[in-house]
Amino acid sequence: MSQKPSVPLDPHAMAVRQLKQAAAHMDIEPGLLERITHTEREVTVHFPVKMDDGSLRMFAGYRVQHNDVRGPYKGGLRYHPATELGEVRALAMWMTWKAAVVNIPYGGAKGGVTCDPKTLSPGERERLTRRFTYEIAPIIGPERDIPAPDVYTGPQEMAWIMDTYSMISGQATPGVVTGKPLELGGSLGRFEATGRGVVITAREAARHLGRDLEGMTVAIQGSGNVGGVAARYFELAGAKVVAISDSKSGVYNPKGIESAQALACKDQYACLLGHELASEEISNQELLELEVDLLAPCAMEGVLTPDNADRIKAKLVVEGANGPTTPEADAILEDKGVLVVPDILANAGGVTVSYFEWVQNLQNLLWSEDEIGQRLEDILCRSMKEVLAIAQEKKVSLRNAAMILGVGRVLAASRLRGVYP
Ligand code: NAD
Repeated sequence: MSQKPSVPLDPHAMAVRQLKQAAAHMDIEPGLLERITHTEREVTVHFPVKMDDGSLRMFAGYRVQHNDVRGPYKGGLRYHPATELGEVRALAMWMTWKAAVVNIPYGGAKGGVTCDPKTLSPGERERLTRRFTYEIAPIIGPERDIPAPDVYTGPQEMAWIMDTYSMISGQATPGVVTGKPLELGGSLGRFEATGRGVVITAREAARHLGRDLEGMTVAIQGSGNVGGVAARYFELAGAKVVAISDSKSGVYNPKGIESAQALACKDQYACLLGHELASEEISNQELLELEVDLLAPCAMEGVLTPDNADRIKAKLVVEGANGPTTPEADAILEDKGVLVVPDILANAGGVTVSYFEWVQNLQNLLWSEDEIGQRLEDILCRSMKEVLAIAQEKKVSLRNAAMILGVGRVLAASRLRGVYP
């Protein structure tokens, strides 16, 4: 981001604060609240990778399992230079609430490797992925913990994980990861699921405000799996994407940017070029503050902070990314009357279709794209309705309402299971 926040971001402290804010509206036994504030298992590994020039480099990787009372741990793997244990811990916790909000039988986990994948060759990325999989193999598995793509990982990394795990376990095990290529048991609709879910929840939130996505202006931060796909679905819904960005900068045209053209430009030049897209170049910071109807942060956490929340002009913020809004910024946006669709609902389309992929893998089923699209719509619309009802009943923000719903389901399962031994 172009502007440094005045307080350094601590994603785990942020996640715990969100939990405590929701807990204030719930009746939770103190011991149980303490339990879900903690992660259940945190594995840090340091492992060597042979680089193309023959040298050996050490990497740090993490897998954090927050809670599995509702089902096997589930969550993505991130390759990013800023990835560290605290960030992964927060992301794992958000996964637990997310799976519970959409009521699918998973717990929450997350993982990552501290690296800059843009500087790694395909061979180095493959060796890093395979060795990392070997390191965490004892704690993952189709009935135990199922990774998926996240920032700078995708179907190819999932294919290497699936292959490595299958070699170790001595049998083809497609259910160990989701987000795989279709040829390896991936699901139709998984690649699109998160971005599509962002637009479904945006549409429902707009309806709640008495509006329609048709004709709305939209700014999207990030043009990867989530942002790029969301742009396409926003256009299909009749909205006008006026700005989109990548890690370097953004492009802005008040008349609209054709997302297919923007993504093709990014593919060709590895960046978004304003002149190629007949648009003005803007910074990621400027993008967030544009005069638009809807803002969809779809890149990294902690981008809406007390430093810029007051200058956000969108009336609707839909969090494609995990943790883009700090609790302080949340309060400012709420005071300004901005409706924020929280990450644990807005980007839950990904884990939902990951669940469909896993169910198909475990039962050797093949569902059609229509079937998957319809099930996704049903689950997200039902969840949105439940969250809106809690928000209205308890007079709380959508984030607090989604947390009350998700945390409530985790607690109900926890109480039934009790404490072993
Ligand atoms: P991706 O790797 O496909 O894309 C990441 C995008 O963010 C790219 O456009 C990149 O250029 C941009 N980016 C990276 N650093 C940035 C920075 N500092 N400032 C602005 N832009 C930056 O990743 P993704 O899968 O699209 O994930 C994006 C967000 O969505 C993450 O927060 C992730 O946790 C969340 N998410 C992803 C999924 C999924 O299914 N992939 C599901 C739920 C949530």
